[in-house]
Amino acid sequence: MKRKPLELADKAAVISYLRSRSLEWPAAEGGCWEWMGYREKEGYGRFTAEGKPRYVHREAFKAFGRRIPDGFTIDHLCGNTSCWNPSHLEAVTREENTRRARNAYWKAFLRDNHAALNVLGKLGGSVIEPVAVTR
Ligand SMILES: [Zn+2]
Repeated sequence: MKRKPLELADKAAVISYLRSRSLEWPAAEGGCWEWMGYREKEGYGRFTAEGKPRYVHREAFKAFGRRIPDGFTIDHLCGNTSCWNPSHLEAVTREENTRRARNAYWKAFLRDNHAALNVLGKLGGSVIEPVAVTR
């Protein structure tokens, strides 16, 4: 029996497809939903749908009903590029993404301290601005 090909417009199917190939970390461990399939060198998860390679985090973002405005990119607040938990993703301008990426300290801190995400969640993300001082 042939499996029905994955259609990106079918949001529930996209989410269940991603979920079946991911590892969900408990909240105490940061709560990342980590893609276990093919990853690029930088860690970004990839899969093929509708005949083209797709980014896991971008398709997940859209599958959860969120829009990526033109020219915007998706920033991983958790620093884990294989993650597609929508609460760890934020659509930002490329300029903002570059500014955040330059802050190596902040990125390394998040990578090494997944529990910091819980604090971040409690503060509603406001902790980002005072820490991201590199301009
Ligand atoms: Zn994450």
